[in-house]
Amino acid sequence: MAARRTRPVRVLVDMDGVLADFEAGLLRGFRRRFPREPHVALEERRGFLAREQYRALRPDLADKVASVYEAPGFFLDLEPIPGALEALQEMNSMQDTEVICTSPLTKHERCVGEKGRLYCWVENHLGPQFVERIILTRDKTVVSGDLLIDDQDTIRGQEETPSWEHILFTCCHNQHLALPPTRRRLLSWSDNWRGIIDSKRGCRREARKLPIAPEPQLSLRIPHRYPCAGQHTLWTLRHRLLLVSGPLSSSSTPLAFPKPS
Ligand SMILES: [Mg+2]
Repeated sequence: MAARRTRPVRVLVDMDGVLADFEAGLLRGFRRRFPREPHVALEERRGFLAREQYRALRPDLADKVASVYEAPGFFLDLEPIPGALEALQEMNSMQDTEVICTSPLTKHERCVGEKGRLYCWVENHLGPQFVERIILTRDKTVVSGDLLIDDQDTIRGQEETPSWEHILFTCCHNQHLALPPTRRRLLSWSDNWRGIIDSKRGCRREARKLPIAPEPQLSLRIPHRYPCAGQHTLWTLRHRLLLVSGPLSSSSTPLAFPKPS
């Protein structure tokens, strides 16, 4: 019986609110640009979308707050979350651990300029080797991994049962949420992220005792209306780089990339 091929524990790390301090940057930018308008203090933030809380405060504030985070260069000016850079560097140097930075591909970030600024932030703060470890995607559920560290409390997509366990990274907008006992939080980068990764190594050791299952295939969907999307889609195990460009839709063409043996 052939031995099951082992691979590193793959940790997907969200960028906004986990690596980069989106909320502090947004509040700072809003107060600077609209000093006479009411604002939502970080202690009062509730809900993932700041825009919706500002809309509830006063409807016209929704577009104003959106104009702050949609401004060119907003992401580039964000400060790192305390301890994030050190944790990522250490994580990246750990044996049998693979780190990938993930970011939602919003309408705004589909602009070439904003993608470039996001890559620049990663290169400036983490180094060029991490630029090869960025995934931009509208749907994180289709990305394969063991862990997803993300500040968004609920992550849904086309895949109903993602391969990763979602670890909720505590942020001002989600700190009040009570999670079911089956879900785990990372309170900050001072919390025990090493233990969470090690818990997945234990799972892998157990999995190796199970009968061999066929190797899964990674499926990507390339939207028809983005004929050049294939140029932006690259899958190489050697560099462990996955770049997904373009929104997913029901009219997409599924492509399968068998993993090399
Ligand atoms: Mg986030």
